[in-house]
Amino acid sequence: MSLYTTEAVIIGIKNQGEADKAVTLLSPDRGRIRATAFGCRRIKSPMAGALQLFNQVEVQINEGERWDTIRQCSLQHAFRNLSEDFQSMAYGSFVAELASNLSIENFPQVEMYNRLLEIFGAFGSRNPRIAALAAGYQLLEFSGMQLSYEHCICCNDELAGDGFFSFELGGVVCQNCQGKVQERLWDYPEALREFIVQLLQLSWQERPACKVNGKTLMAAEGLLLGYLRHIIDKPLQSLNFIQQLG
Ligand SMILES: [Zn+2]
Repeated sequence: MSLYTTEAVIIGIKNQGEADKAVTLLSPDRGRIRATAFGCRRIKSPMAGALQLFNQVEVQINEGERWDTIRQCSLQHAFRNLSEDFQSMAYGSFVAELASNLSIENFPQVEMYNRLLEIFGAFGSRNPRIAALAAGYQLLEFSGMQLSYEHCICCNDELAGDGFFSFELGGVVCQNCQGKVQERLWDYPEALREFIVQLLQLSWQERPACKVNGKTLMAAEGLLLGYLRHIIDKPLQSLNFIQQLG
């Protein structure tokens, strides 16, 4: 058994047993951590306040043979902007769940960690639906499962005009190569490509001027969710939460 301390952000949390919580954290130097916090739901537990979704914390973790346990947890920063309204909470949960599915255990994830903090910090000051969408595309870039949005996956030419998209091939297919591939192809109009590039470059410090029509917005959401279904074997729970927004 070994004990270590790390900074982390809480990206998943659920009640377990009578007074415990199963916690998923993202740490810059250790990647995804899953650990149990025993007794933390008791009123007197010193960890109760810090162990909440979206919190940036410092944790002391005991690596056990069967499971890791959280020994201590102190709050560094609470992103109150994420729990102010139901909409921010729902879309914020989507971003957290995505980070939980795209991060890797025992592997440094400094870039994903820093970006996640920026994203969480910016929520509330912008449209949560577009923020969650941009966050989804950006987090994918750090996952090792990133897609090619601008260069044809077959011939590597830069795409001009409309093209096609393949989840199986992991990116776009140009009009010249369209006939050579066996995989299922989805429409990938120029406006969608331009919007995705805009989302990837969206800065979280500045207020964005992200103009998009409903059709392109829905196409970008459809593409992201379609790819997530392709690479993640279980449905994302936060999507039910978002659907309740109506
Ligand atoms: Zn091509």
